[in-house]
Amino acid sequence: MHIDTTYVYRGGEYELDRLLRIEDVTAEARESMRSVPQRLEEFRLMLAGPEPDVRIGNQCKRPYPCEFAAYCHAFLPERYPITALPRLAERTLHALLEAGITSIHDVPDDFPGLTLGQREAAAAVRAGEPTVDGRGIARALAPLVWPAYHLDFETIAPALPRWPGTRPYETVPFQYSVHVHHPDGTAEHREYLHTGDDDPRPTLAARLLADLGEIGSVVHYTPYERGVLAGLADALPELEERFADIIDRLFDLEPVIRVNTRHPEAAGRSSIKFVLPAWCPDLSYSGLGIADGQTASVRYLRVLRGETTGAEAVRVLADLAEYCGLDTYAMVRLLDEMRRLADADVASGTGEVL
Ligand code: SF4
Repeated sequence: MHIDTTYVYRGGEYELDRLLRIEDVTAEARESMRSVPQRLEEFRLMLAGPEPDVRIGNQCKRPYPCEFAAYCHAFLPERYPITALPRLAERTLHALLEAGITSIHDVPDDFPGLTLGQREAAAAVRAGEPTVDGRGIARALAPLVWPAYHLDFETIAPALPRWPGTRPYETVPFQYSVHVHHPDGTAEHREYLHTGDDDPRPTLAARLLADLGEIGSVVHYTPYERGVLAGLADALPELEERFADIIDRLFDLEPVIRVNTRHPEAAGRSSIKFVLPAWCPDLSYSGLGIADGQTASVRYLRVLRGETTGAEAVRVLADLAEYCGLDTYAMVRLLDEMRRLADADVASGTGEVL
C-alpha cells in the first residue's frame, strides 16, 4: 500500500481509499525471495572475515550520503580531494586512485577520462588563481535588465497534503527573499515568510507580484525558481498571466559563472554554496542555523505541525529568514563581482588570468 500522488486533497478528513493505493506485488516478492538465502550466506561470510576492502565510489553518496564517509574517505586530503571534481565518473575516480592520485593538485592535464570541465577545474587548482573570460561575462550579462530582482524560494512538499487542492508531495512555497539590485550596486531587501496555518500561496503570490515590480530581470541561481513560479501560476489561475510575465523576465546567473570563470576554491563546482565563498570570501553559509533547503523545509514543517513551539519556533523562523536572505544577497554580491571582473578583464585587454 503506498501513497497515490495523483490524489487531490479536498479538505477535512483524508479519503484513505483515494490517498492510498493497494498494488499486488506478490509475484515480484516471491521472485526476490529466491535470492535471499544466497545473500544471507554472503553476509555471514563477510561478518566472519576482516573489514571488507571496498573502494569509495558512487555508493558513498547515492541513494543517500553514507554515514561512514568520514572513515572511508579519511585518506583523501582535506583541501582539493579528487572527489570534489565536478561530476567525476566512478571509473575515472577509480583510475585516479589506482594511479595513486588523491589531490586535484596532482591530476595531470592529460589524464584519460577527464571532461573539459574537470581538466579546467584541475588547472585552476594547480594555477592557484582564478581564470576569467571577461568578455564572455559581459556578453552573458548584456540581456540583463535593471533593476535586477534576485529571487529565492523556500518550499515544503509534505507526503500528506495540508491544504485543499494540493497533492501528496506537491511543492508549496512558504517563503521568498527578493533583493532589488540597482546598477550602482545598492540593494533593498524584500521578504515574505508565511506563519499562519492556511495555504501560503495566495498571500505569498500577491506579495511577490508587488515586490517584483513591472520592469527588470528576475535573477535566479537554479532552475528551481522557474518551477515554483510555474506551480504558482497553475495553483492560482487568476494570476496565471502575471506569473507568465515574471517567468519571461527570468535570468539565470549560474551559467554566467559556470561558463566564464574557474576558481580554485570552487574546484569546478558551480553551486552557490561553493561559488559564494570563492568569489566573496567575507560571505559563506557556514555557521548559519539553517544552511540548506532540505533543513529549511523540515524545520518549517515541524513548526507548522506544532512539534516545534515557543522560543524554539521563533528561532527557526529567524534562521529561515537569515538563510533565504543570504541566498539572494549572495546573488547581489556575485553579480557585482562578475561585473567587476568583466570590467577589469576588458580594461586589461587580456581576457585571461586575473
Ligand atoms: S563511505 Fe559507506 S558506501 Fe562508501 S565505501 Fe565506506 S561504507 Fe561503503
